[in-house]
Amino acid sequence: MQNVQPTASHFINGAYVEDATGAAIDVVYPATGAVIATLHAATPAIVDQALAAAKAAQPVWAAMTGTERGRILRRAADMIRDRNRALSELETLDTGKPLQETLVADATSGADALEYFGGLAASLTGEHIQLGQDFVYTRREALGVCVGIGAWNYPTQIACWKGAPALACGNSMVFKPSETTPLSALKVAEILHEAGLPAGLFNVIQGRGDVGAALVTDPRVDKVSLTGSVPTGRKVYAAAAQGIKHVTMELGGKSPLIVFDDADVEDAVGGAILGNFYSSGQVCSNGTRVFVQKGIKERFLARLKQRVEAAVIGDPMDEATNFGPMVSAAQRDIVLGYIEKGQAEGARLITGGQRIDGDGFYLTPTVFADVTDGMTIAREEIFGPVMAVLDFDDEDEVIARANATEFGLSAGVFTRDLTRGHRVIGQLEAGSCWINTYNLAPVEAPFGGAKLSGVGRENSKAAIEHYSQLKSVYVAMGPVDAPY
Ligand code: NAD
Repeated sequence: MQNVQPTASHFINGAYVEDATGAAIDVVYPATGAVIATLHAATPAIVDQALAAAKAAQPVWAAMTGTERGRILRRAADMIRDRNRALSELETLDTGKPLQETLVADATSGADALEYFGGLAASLTGEHIQLGQDFVYTRREALGVCVGIGAWNYPTQIACWKGAPALACGNSMVFKPSETTPLSALKVAEILHEAGLPAGLFNVIQGRGDVGAALVTDPRVDKVSLTGSVPTGRKVYAAAAQGIKHVTMELGGKSPLIVFDDADVEDAVGGAILGNFYSSGQVCSNGTRVFVQKGIKERFLARLKQRVEAAVIGDPMDEATNFGPMVSAAQRDIVLGYIEKGQAEGARLITGGQRIDGDGFYLTPTVFADVTDGMTIAREEIFGPVMAVLDFDDEDEVIARANATEFGLSAGVFTRDLTRGHRVIGQLEAGSCWINTYNLAPVEAPFGGAKLSGVGRENSKAAIEHYSQLKSVYVAMGPVDAPY
């Protein structure tokens, strides 16, 4: 196993920095339970150092041309791709996700974001508004110092999805990864600086919620982007409101995936698998409420059971493995609790539901059928490999039931009826939707939630609006006409 102990816990002002007086954070490899690195949470002095560096570096960066900024981001994207295997192995050790996944979905997705926003940086502009002789022009300006706070499921991707648009727009960033998966963001910082990013513009500091809270409340911070749960989102949003800071909230979900009886069953089963078991179910946009029209229910369930039972569960470092452990023992136990509740409340266990013995945090992929809307497993975000299959009769009914949730992150529809696909998606209360596929999130498409699932959008040109602001400048061409 490679040595994953980083040079130091934090990356500030272009260099690794340690302060061993901070509380220890053990990094645990979820497949074995072994401690593979120990880091230290940021002390107040480290938080201050990171914010001071970000504050000092930002104006110089914003004054550079977009082309210059973009070139550095695109260089970093190339370096990430060149080092994809090593970065993916690190991501697998950090998260437990199978290498088969991390090789194609983590560092590569981060590189996509750096490439995309690097490419966009040179074309960020304001506009000219003619008003007779006078005119107004707008300047698209950076917000200043941005704080990024990450969840543990996609550590590299989250660091890049926040860092890339922030930097493209001329901001600086202090990023705090999840305390559960703190390693990869340090590599992103290292690579950005190797690619030529001036010191102080992308800083990484470690810590738990208290470090995140210290960042959010600091007056030097202009924007906070959080990926996390709804309860954390509420706290961070409220804290940011005290300083009227900009926010992006990428929060949880309990998304519907609707399978009509004219759907291609094989594709619908594939979509349900992608939308429930990728990353062992630890994906915010998962379609965990799978509504299946009664006409194809038994065919769907039979095929689903067959395919789910073919999952290769095992050593995440073995590229044949396609289903790994949960990120932590704590998360595994939370999920087991939901599985017990599902059974106690009368759902029919189709497959899975087992904890796998050993030191790793493994569960078998779990499917419940005959789930009803009121059951706990149909209402709460589980963030684990537990699919709830619900029956439905007709379109209006399923739309109403799909929307009867406080969340609104994602939604999917499987049907061969083109007009129905668009009609139904148009009525679902969700930010990121799919027709006849599930969970694809290319950087070119906006990503984000409605309702409790969040505010703001990541990726695409839409993210630019969340990392920049417009200054409007009125220019008079004639005399000033004052009343006295
Ligand atoms: P979490 O809410 O427990 O933690 C998220 C981050 O917030 C961590 O870095 C944590 O240290 C930090 N934090 C906690 N309390 C804080 C506070 N008071 N102030 C500032 N920061 C604080 O979430 P998690 O368990 O790491 O991740 C799982 C959750 O994230 C799920 O709900 C999932 O749906 C959601 N998620 C959403 C998206 C999305 O894009 N919408 C993506 C991935 C995960």
